Amino acid sequence: GTKLEDELFRINQILKAAQIECTVTGTPKLVNTPLLVENVLSMCLKEAVNNVVKHSSASTCSISIKQSAKETLLKVYDNGQGMGEKVNWSKGHGLRGMKERLEFVNGTLDIHSKNGTTLNIRVPNVIQ
Ligand code: ATP
Ligand code: MG
Repeated sequence: GTKLEDELFRINQILKAAQIECTVTGTPKLVNTPLLVENVLSMCLKEAVNNVVKHSSASTCSISIKQSAKETLLKVYDNGQGMGEKVNWSKGHGLRGMKERLEFVNGTLDIHSKNGTTLNIRVPNVIQ
């Protein structure tokens, strides 16, 4: 598995190569987070950024990582063309794979298409 910090380094390079400006807020150094959860978040970050590069035509991508008492929230926003009215879950495997892996750790994925695309990836701190 991959630590979030290492994945963040890699996606920074990928976005740079694609000439998409990348801003990061928050810290990838997660506190009290099981390795499995961190691996899932890393995988989600990787796929989210792959999609930004492949599909969005964005000029910027913002990533934010926030840990609260309740949850870890990873947000990936791009200012590209968006996904339109409906998310196409069956076109590829990326979004579905994210959702499935998040379910293992009681996490959720929600997607908003407005002025680009925003993915909210949440994992609760306490695994039930
Ligand atoms: P795969 O991930 O299996 O290589 P894929 O990227 O096409 O294929 P998904 O990751 O599931 O599949 O994404 C589904 C579809 O949602 C994409 O084909 C694309 O049309 C759209 N999409 C995903 N992310 C974005 C984005 N950031 N901006 C615009 N469209 C997107
Ligand atoms: Mg994909």
